[in-house]
Amino acid sequence: MSMLKKQKTIFLTLREEAEKRGLQIIPLKMREIPVHEGVRLKCLVPLCEFYSVCRVCPPHLPSVSEFRRALTYFSQAFLLVLRHEAVSREEVAKPEIALLQAVQALEKTAWQHGYYRAMGLAVGGCKLCERCAPLNEPCRHPFQARPSPEGLGIDLTLLARRKGLPLAWPPTGEYLLLGMLLL
Ligand code: SF4
Repeated sequence: MSMLKKQKTIFLTLREEAEKRGLQIIPLKMREIPVHEGVRLKCLVPLCEFYSVCRVCPPHLPSVSEFRRALTYFSQAFLLVLRHEAVSREEVAKPEIALLQAVQALEKTAWQHGYYRAMGLAVGGCKLCERCAPLNEPCRHPFQARPSPEGLGIDLTLLARRKGLPLAWPPTGEYLLLGMLLL
């Protein structure tokens, strides 16, 4: 099978899985993914409540330059979009966990189709536990927790807007929860 046909086949498979879970999936070219140290800086200024506390947030992640180099390992990427009605800050964990579970399912589907490099990312500090495990203890759900694209330096807002998604800060109307799948 040609590379192009292979890419189209996995996209159609992933799209079917994504649609079952209410997700939009947008294919990306690797060069379209904007990575910048400034995005990581935004974890620190003003200080995010997840910084250093969440096991899959900075500084427990590779540096932005390491991630930029690591991105060359992957050949395909998809932006994943979960639309949700506006919720309060306290209620955002539920849709973020739904996004994370959908990202995990898509990662698994890709892996089952031979894409052994499949790696999912999901927005937000990890909310699988009410409080993240203390630093001297291991993560409680290491196979489920995934870092956010921003924690790795990806400018998700810029990417989403370039793809025509109406992402507004502060949010107006519905929420767009974003994830990413790298193959
Ligand atoms: S699964 Fe729990 S312990 Fe692991 S990163 Fe998420 S919140 Fe922290």
